[in-house]
Amino acid sequence: MIISKFGGTSVADAAAIVRTAEIVRGRLARRPIVVVSALAGVTNALLGIARQASEGHFISAVSSVQELRERHLAEVDALLQHSSERDDVTSEISVIFDELASLCEALSVLGFITARSLDAIAGMGERASSMLVAAAFRARGIDAVHVDARKVMITDASFGAAEPQTESIAVAARAIVAPLVQDGKVPVMGGYIGASTDGITTTLGRGGSDYSASLIGAALQAESIEIWTDVDGMLTADPRVVPGARPIEQIRFDEASELASFGAKVLHPATIAPAVRLGIPVWIYNSRNPGGHGTRITFDAPRRSVTAIAAKRDTTILRVATGRMLFQPGFLRRVFELFDEHSVSVDVVATSEVSVSVTVDDTAPLDVLLGALRQVGDVSVERRRAIISVVGSGIADGASAMGAVLRALGHRRIHMLSLSASAINLTILLDDADVPDAMRALHAALFEDVTP
Ligand code: ADP
Ligand code: ASP
Ligand code: MG
Repeated sequence: MIISKFGGTSVADAAAIVRTAEIVRGRLARRPIVVVSALAGVTNALLGIARQASEGHFISAVSSVQELRERHLAEVDALLQHSSERDDVTSEISVIFDELASLCEALSVLGFITARSLDAIAGMGERASSMLVAAAFRARGIDAVHVDARKVMITDASFGAAEPQTESIAVAARAIVAPLVQDGKVPVMGGYIGASTDGITTTLGRGGSDYSASLIGAALQAESIEIWTDVDGMLTADPRVVPGARPIEQIRFDEASELASFGAKVLHPATIAPAVRLGIPVWIYNSRNPGGHGTRITFDAPRRSVTAIAAKRDTTILRVATGRMLFQPGFLRRVFELFDEHSVSVDVVATSEVSVSVTVDDTAPLDVLLGALRQVGDVSVERRRAIISVVGSGIADGASAMGAVLRALGHRRIHMLSLSASAINLTILLDDADVPDAMRALHAALFEDVTP
């Protein structure tokens, strides 16, 4: 069997859902399990509604709920026009939005929101889209069965970024999903959402539907995992920033994983790990161009000097210096213990003889951590930085790739430079404002320079 995951733009409206149905129809012989995201933009809208309600703006929250309800019901009408299921699906989807409206009422009275209620709301997009897509498939003659992802995707209770419990997921997937496939049916489930062991709705973090797909793929030892999106695969750079970015036909797991972690939004950073464990190839395809080659992510993709570049915006650099000439024994250990104690995750690290520089997300809660770091050294904070990653298996072989990178960056100010231990990721910290321009210059030098 295979896992086919369709992102928000691939289920954005009736026309997109019809394209998706045709893609799935063409794969029936390979026994697909379908994972879908919320309709494009819906998760953002839901989070906005939750915020409005909890800030006491009940009327505007309810009118946004109404807009979302109407958008979904319009797609039900368009897709299920001639189907006997139209009324049933209309009421199933209405139930979700009724639940949302009453949650909004409660939140606006309370005046605050917990991570748990936020997940209950954020997950409604996938609950609705998966019901809609399953019914639309049936209306087109595909024997689809809706599966409530919360029965399968078992997680811990870390709301907002729940940790999947792989053993429980495997047991549930074998009990609930596999038998459907064996009966020749197409299971359709929402990505991104799960439930804690006591049945409370959780989410896997933004963009988490890719992760859901690979977790189900690993649980059922699928033959391949397909991520269907709105671009022709993984490209040499984000096409929104670098218009000349080109599709990559094959890429190694470790390189794809670095790119995802350092800003290539086309793949959720956690997607690769479950597939790597079992060597399941991951494909990225364009649902608007289903005949395209796509990108194949595997162990055996060829090594290249440079494969792609990515940028992670909204980064802060923290520098901690000891007052002495040399690190005291235990200095680095103490610094990293503090990050650990305060649950702040670090992206890039560089050290000199007397100081250590690390990068963290702009959104990381720093106040308490900074106080603690000041006990061990002098601390400085630099905001509005960005990480540019140049990823390739041969980035460190010889000087040519690194030389080209540094030349392309020209006069731009470099705040930090680090080569990953696996030597496949060269990370460079720049001013955030320099990113679009620097990405285009790097791309031109690394991928578009055709002079011999
Ligand atoms: P989906 O809703 O299908 O999950 P996303 O918006 O999460 O889609 O991811 C697809 C987007 O990722 C593309 O439209 C593209 O702008 C962006 N992107 C960033 N970096 C890359 C890259 N290296 N290759 C392809 N797409 C990228
Ligand atoms: N709908 C969720 C989000 O927007 C998950 C996903 O699309 O992967 O983050
Ligand atoms: Mg995505």
